[in-house]
Amino acid sequence: CGIVGYIGHREAYPIVIKGLKRLEYRGYDSAGVMLYEDNEGVKLCKTKGKVSDLEAKAKEDLTENGNIGIGHTRWATHGVPNDVNSHPHLSNSGDLVIIHNGIIENYAPLKEELIKRGYTFKSDTDTEVLVNLIEEVQKKENIKLGKAVQIALNQVVGAYAIAVFDKKNPNEIVAARLGSPLAIGVGEGEYFIASDASPFIEYTSNAVYLEDGEMANIRLHKPLKIRKIKDDSLVDPYIQELQM
Ligand code: GLU
Repeated sequence: CGIVGYIGHREAYPIVIKGLKRLEYRGYDSAGVMLYEDNEGVKLCKTKGKVSDLEAKAKEDLTENGNIGIGHTRWATHGVPNDVNSHPHLSNSGDLVIIHNGIIENYAPLKEELIKRGYTFKSDTDTEVLVNLIEEVQKKENIKLGKAVQIALNQVVGAYAIAVFDKKNPNEIVAARLGSPLAIGVGEGEYFIASDASPFIEYTSNAVYLEDGEMANIRLHKPLKIRKIKDDSLVDPYIQELQM
């Protein structure tokens, strides 16, 4: 299972697809991608099967442009491997998009509570519960994505590497990890996100490895902001020089 993301000045799609292929060794049963482009908005393509199947489907279904993208390979834990359960998942409003590796252990009570509040679910995944929990927090508190992700994650028991995108503020990707790896590649006017550095090593040799319990606001043309999910304390990003 793997995560890839890009925000910057290049076309995101080829970076994400190539990145997912580099992460294939981690094992997976499905793959998916989200691209964002100002005129077209959020574009999703996902499928059971290989990254090459995703490419074939994207050729039919997507215009493969946009400078923001996230991609995922899924190793199913909650819900069978099929197109609907594949990531990315959307929140009910369609504003939030998430990819997730790991398990939300307390998804059942959270899901029950969200259903009481009127949320509906398309998939059987724990991940779709998390993205709607983030949406519920964001709406209730009227706050930005990062803060909503933080509050939601503090209600979650489990393991995760996530990347979340909000089309209401499309210059940012929020990432977080607990128990699953996540690296951020820091380029000039661009950022990369991935389960390990292999998807972005050809573009930048500067990487920040998130520690367990940390989250990052990855914003275009702004410095990385990293903080602890639990107590909101800021962490100085430690940028490592990768050996090319
Ligand atoms: N638990 C999530 C699912 O079943 C994520 C699985 C993964 O790590 O790929 O969709």
